[in-house]
Amino acid sequence: MAAIEIHQFSILNDNYAVLIHDPATGATASIDAAESYPIERELEAKGWKLTDILVTHHHADHTEGIAELKDSTGCRVVGPRREAAKIPRIDLEVGEGESFKVGSIDVHVIETPGHTLGHVAYIVPAANAAFVGDTLFSLGCGRMFEGTPQGFHDALRKLAALPGETQVYCGHEYTVSNGRFALTVDPDNAALQRRMQEAEALRAKGFPTLPTTITAELATNPFLRAHVPAIQQRLGMEGAPAWQVFGELRDRKNRS
Ligand code: ZN
Ligand code: FE
Repeated sequence: MAAIEIHQFSILNDNYAVLIHDPATGATASIDAAESYPIERELEAKGWKLTDILVTHHHADHTEGIAELKDSTGCRVVGPRREAAKIPRIDLEVGEGESFKVGSIDVHVIETPGHTLGHVAYIVPAANAAFVGDTLFSLGCGRMFEGTPQGFHDALRKLAALPGETQVYCGHEYTVSNGRFALTVDPDNAALQRRMQEAEALRAKGFPTLPTTITAELATNPFLRAHVPAIQQRLGMEGAPAWQVFGELRDRKNRS
């Protein structure tokens, strides 16, 4: 059977759009829909027909293209039940532990509250891929607009528990700016130093730093490393619960 195809491209300023294509059935899903035109253009270039939009959360830079795409393609809109009132035209509301199909592809849902309270991530085991929206970024995480430090930390631990080789697709290209902050709280981390050099080199050529992997983020992303003694010491929080350390990291990042 032909492999699932995943096509990532830039949209708006620093967002990523992702298309997931099932060659077995021709089904194609868009992760979020910031605006319709660039997604329609990429679909046409690939010769794919949009069948589904999988919405991670209600923010405009992930939803403003939904209505036009639904009107032009008749696609199904899948989105978080807890944010259904804030997202236009949802056909299928989903929540923690639920599954659905895009064509023949199984998609699992994890609730990841923190950036927004109803935020969900979509897991595609057959492609070894996770689509995490604005919950987890490479070397960083989303701003905590609606959640609590404990809840956001729990959400990130769920993503951290995915298989290490999982390809992680994020909503934004923030790796270099995240890395600058990460180096202030984890300066002696050689893996982080290498990842930052790699990310700067990729961006200098205009290439994406994503997808990343769970293994890479566990080694480099301070928001997944709130339990690590070197980071706790740096913050003067030795022995504190990891979620409190996470909260302090999030506060410092906001002020950085
Ligand atoms: Zn957002
Ligand atoms: Fe966003």
